[in-house]
Amino acid sequence: MIHYTPSSLWRLHPEDLQRDLQQRVHAVVSPSSHPCLVFFRADDVAVPSRKFSRLIALFKRRRVPLSLAVVPTWLTPSRWEAVRSIAGDDPFLWCWHQHGYQHKNHEPKGKKCEFGQSRAEADLRRDLRRGWDRLSSIMGPLVFQAFTPPWNRCGATALVLLKEMGYYVVSRSEGAIHAPPRSLADFSINVDLHTRKESQPEAGRDHLLAELETALAGGFCGVMIHHQRMNGPAFDFLDRLLEILSREKRVKLMHLQDLAGTEP
Ligand SMILES: [Zn+2]
Repeated sequence: MIHYTPSSLWRLHPEDLQRDLQQRVHAVVSPSSHPCLVFFRADDVAVPSRKFSRLIALFKRRRVPLSLAVVPTWLTPSRWEAVRSIAGDDPFLWCWHQHGYQHKNHEPKGKKCEFGQSRAEADLRRDLRRGWDRLSSIMGPLVFQAFTPPWNRCGATALVLLKEMGYYVVSRSEGAIHAPPRSLADFSINVDLHTRKESQPEAGRDHLLAELETALAGGFCGVMIHHQRMNGPAFDFLDRLLEILSREKRVKLMHLQDLAGTEP
């Protein structure tokens, strides 16, 4: 059983956070600003829960698309039945896709990584294949062939394999060290809502709002969500963020499958 702790900033007063959010978004997004693409990606999906239902309800209510990264070995037919009945089938809203295979670290040292350079190519290929086969056998045509590596990183070999195996998209975090091969679309997250490490809540808030402002000003904003780590203030903040962004005409809210279609 993994123990999920909310980041320190979610101890702050929700109203203060929401007021700051509104100011910062409006400082960079206005009717006359450049268009901005925004996508939301929820990681570690597979197990139905109260928090998962609450997350889905927010996106449904605001009609905002969400890319859901599903861990293949965590998914079972009965879990999928429950998750699907919570979300419903709406291709405008949901892009279900692959999140690693077992969500297991294979690196002997350094940063955690499931599809890193220390593994043999045959093992990487086998686990990618097993993960994709499991998801597509359980979810059928509802799963899109995009890949979010656990911990937002994978090795150069894994990127080549993704392309060879027909994946359309990889989604990591901004500044990932290896560039993917051409024709494998690359949409990174650059805003982290729930796995922030700042020990001081105010520092967490400042860094989060700065990430958001920089991303929106740059015209591309990818927001990472971990629903297991969300508390009441984190849900309220996300709801406010969805509300603000969905009212902005210059903001295009899309999921990974639709973003892949924007590539030339
Ligand atoms: Zn994950």
